[in-house]
Amino acid sequence: MQNQMTLEFFIPHAQEGDYLTFPFTMPAGVESFTLRYRYTHRSESERRSDRATFLAQQEINIIDLGLIDPQGLQVGASGSNKHEITITEQRATPGYKPWPLTPGEWRILAGAYKVAPAGVTVTYELEFSFKSRRWFKGDLHTHTLASDGVCTVEELGQRALRHGLDFLAITDHNQMIAGETLPQPPGLTLIQGMEWTHFRGHANFLGVDRPYDAPFAANTFEEVQSRFISARQRGALISINHPYDPDCGFQFDLNRLPFDILEVWNGPMRESNLHALGFWQRLLASGRKIPICGGSDYHRDSPFLFLGGPTTCVYAMSAAPGDILAALQQGHAYITFAPDGPTLSAGVGGEAAILGDSLPWREGQCLQISAEGLIAGDVIRVVTGQGSEAILEAECAGRMGATHPITAPGFARVEIYRAFLPGIPKLPALLSNPIYFDYP
Ligand SMILES: [Zn+2]
Ligand SMILES: [Zn+2]
Repeated sequence: MQNQMTLEFFIPHAQEGDYLTFPFTMPAGVESFTLRYRYTHRSESERRSDRATFLAQQEINIIDLGLIDPQGLQVGASGSNKHEITITEQRATPGYKPWPLTPGEWRILAGAYKVAPAGVTVTYELEFSFKSRRWFKGDLHTHTLASDGVCTVEELGQRALRHGLDFLAITDHNQMIAGETLPQPPGLTLIQGMEWTHFRGHANFLGVDRPYDAPFAANTFEEVQSRFISARQRGALISINHPYDPDCGFQFDLNRLPFDILEVWNGPMRESNLHALGFWQRLLASGRKIPICGGSDYHRDSPFLFLGGPTTCVYAMSAAPGDILAALQQGHAYITFAPDGPTLSAGVGGEAAILGDSLPWREGQCLQISAEGLIAGDVIRVVTGQGSEAILEAECAGRMGATHPITAPGFARVEIYRAFLPGIPKLPALLSNPIYFDYP
C-alpha cells in the first residue's frame, strides 16, 4: 500500500540565509519513505540574434534539504544536490542514515541559501510505502572469521544472496557486533547477534549491539542468569542453541533463565536435533508456548553443512531486523531443510490465526494447511498434544491442501518427513510452529 502527500511552502526573500523547518506527520507502519522536492532554481530568458537564440539561465534560488525525526535528531542533510531521498530502517540515500520510521511529527529542514527577490515556492512530495506481512527466508546461526568461521561478513552475505536467503544473523562466539558496522547489501538483511558460548551451553542473543557489559565468562549460575537478564532487558531475542548437542548441549536450568525461542534444528538433521524436537514437544504438551527456530551453525562448507541448512521462513511485516525478530518471537515461522525446501502455510479461518497465534478452542475448528514443493514419498503429519497423525503421503511431486479438524484444546503443528537417502528412515524436511487452541 502506498500513500502520497504534497506540501507547498513559500519562502520570502527576507528569509534568505535562514534555516527553516516544515512539519509533516509520519503515519504508523511505514516501511519506506521517499521525499522529493522542486522549486524554480534558475530564471530563464531568451535572447535572439539573426543567427542564433540563446537561453540565459541564472541561478536565483538555492534551497538545501535535511530531515529531522520526532525526537529532534538529524536523520540526514544533503545540501541542494539531491532532489530525492529514500529512507528505510536498513537503507538510505547517502547523506542520510537508515532510520526507524517512527510515527509522529517529523520535519523537513530547508536551508534558504539563496532566495529570489520575489520569494520562492518549494514543493515537497512525500511518498509512504506501508509494511505488509510476507515470507522471508533466512539463517539465524552463522560464524565468520571473527570466531572460527572462514568467511568475512561480506562473503557470507554474498553466499546468502546466492542461496536465495533474505536475512542472515551473524552470531560469532562471544563477539559483540554493532549493527551500524554491518553491511546492508541490497536484498539481504544482516542481523547483529552473538552466540554466548560457555562450556555448559550456548545461546544466541540477537538484534542488539551489546547484550551485557560484563565479560561472557560466568562461574556461577547467578552470573549466567545476569547475562541473560541483561540481554533480555536490552531487547535481545534469546535463542537456546542446540540444547542436546553431544559436545555442547545446554546444561543450565531453562526454567530459571529468560529465553524466547528454542533452536530445535541446528545444521543437518540428526539425533541431537530429534532429541531437541522431543524436548520441545514435551514442553508444548505441558502447556508451554515456545517458538522454534533453526540455524545452520555455518562455519565452512562441509558435506552436509551449508548456509540456509536449515532455513527459517518467517512471516514478517518487513525485512527490517526488528520485524523479523518480532515475527520469530511470535512464532510466525517454520523451518525447512534448505532454502529451496518445501514451503507451508497453515492457519485457522484464513488469516484469523496464523502459525504462532493462540485462539480459544471450540468444537468444529479446523486447521487449513497447504504445502508446496513436495516430492514422492513425502509424509505430511499434524502433531498435537494427543499425538502425531499422518494426513498424506505424496505419491509424486506436487502440492497439497488439507483441512484437519481440531478435536481438543492444546496446539497443532505440521511436520513434513522425507526420505533423504535410500535406506535411511525419513527425517524432518519441515517443522512448523504450532497454532495454540486455548481452553475456552
Ligand atoms: Zn554453538
Ligand atoms: Zn554456533
